[in-house]
Amino acid sequence: MRSLALPLLAAAVVWGIVAGAARAAERSPNFVVVFCDDLGYGDLGCFGHPTIRTPHLDRMAREGQKWTNFYVGASVCTPSRAALMTGRLPVRNGMMSAKRRVLFPNSKGGLPSSEVTIAEALKAGGYATAAIGKWHLGHLPQHLPTEHGFDSYWGIPYSNDMDAKRGFPNYKAKALEDPDYMPEIAQYHVPLIADKEVVERPADQRTITRRFTEKAVEFIAANKAKPFFIYLAHNLPHIPLFASEAHRGKSRRGLYGDVVEEIDAGVGQIMAALEEHGVADNTLLVFTSDNGPWLPFATHGGSAGLLREGKGSTFEGGMREPTLFWWPGKVEPMVQMELGATMDLLPTFCALAGVEAPADRTMDGYDLSPLLFGKAEKGPRDEIFYWRSEQLYAVRQGPWKAHFITEGCYGIGSKKTVHEKPELYHLDTDPSEKYNVAADHPEVVERLTALAEAHKASVEPAENQLEKR
Ligand code: MG
Repeated sequence: MRSLALPLLAAAVVWGIVAGAARAAERSPNFVVVFCDDLGYGDLGCFGHPTIRTPHLDRMAREGQKWTNFYVGASVCTPSRAALMTGRLPVRNGMMSAKRRVLFPNSKGGLPSSEVTIAEALKAGGYATAAIGKWHLGHLPQHLPTEHGFDSYWGIPYSNDMDAKRGFPNYKAKALEDPDYMPEIAQYHVPLIADKEVVERPADQRTITRRFTEKAVEFIAANKAKPFFIYLAHNLPHIPLFASEAHRGKSRRGLYGDVVEEIDAGVGQIMAALEEHGVADNTLLVFTSDNGPWLPFATHGGSAGLLREGKGSTFEGGMREPTLFWWPGKVEPMVQMELGATMDLLPTFCALAGVEAPADRTMDGYDLSPLLFGKAEKGPRDEIFYWRSEQLYAVRQGPWKAHFITEGCYGIGSKKTVHEKPELYHLDTDPSEKYNVAADHPEVVERLTALAEAHKASVEPAENQLEKR
């Protein structure tokens, strides 16, 4: 009897292991998005910064994919976040405005409840969802993340320079004279919110990056048995800059470098947590930023590297972001030069999770997974539309970019120029947009102009959310 029972038991154990492995292989993948604020294209070691150390992001680039042509949906916070969260251009849902380019503490609007967020789409696949960090899609209770598909929220509802108090030194003036200037916490009366409740005000911004990371690590530990989605939106390196004691004064780049290095350290902790809990091989980790560097703040702002201009502008420095995808054993390690955008995350995640992306509305994203897994050389995206508020300023198709309107970085006040003859740049040979070659390629200008007109005609008017007060 014993001689028969033992082999049966062994077979059952083996079968159990095989079945368990099959179940694990079929398990829906986890998604972690680390989204920075105002980080420039040139601010990471792996994107060429000479004095900012980013060993963990460099590891993501080495073991995963580094995307060199990855875009956001707008060049400032609120509309860029709306685009990532919904897979749609902000002009389609009223989350943009020329009068008020982002939401402010006295704004009444927010992301319309009719929009389907990544979190809501993934809920159909049984995902646990967490929003951590800066939201900036509406701070009133009806607009907070827990109303948009997130099980929990822990973060600040708008930018870290809002709710500024009187009686403190002018930040910009101090920043221009001292690369390491850090203001008092009390200067910015920004609330820290847990779900819908204010739990700290002013938020202690010196420790906020570290605490956001800790929340993400806790969430991974608590939810490792089911599929999860973490949206971790750091409110830095948007000014005012703050770094915790452990990182302050460490970077050769000054306080801005300390801030980026602390974010990098947090990414390292998240990678370590994924590995420690045995879910790294089933998790897609994405790193990018909402818009380019805020240039008027001198050394307190970042660098767009070789790209022209910064935050607020539709030149490349405003909207092309340093982007990394990491999933050990799945994402094909390489430098990816095909086009991508934050609006592609929703359709990519939906495809990987086996859930439906919204089909009842115009979407602006594509499934990037064939590129990520090395199963395609040519990407699904051939076009980038550069909207500034309600106006289409520029269009990219393949390597060509036509500017119909140009305007400089947010806060510098550079002149808005409407080009009767559009400017044309070849972004592969001229990534810095230095050489207007429109006169040599009139047929390309004509093609891109027609593309822009057709695209504009596809946009239906939406109720403006940013002008509601
Ligand atoms: Mg921003």
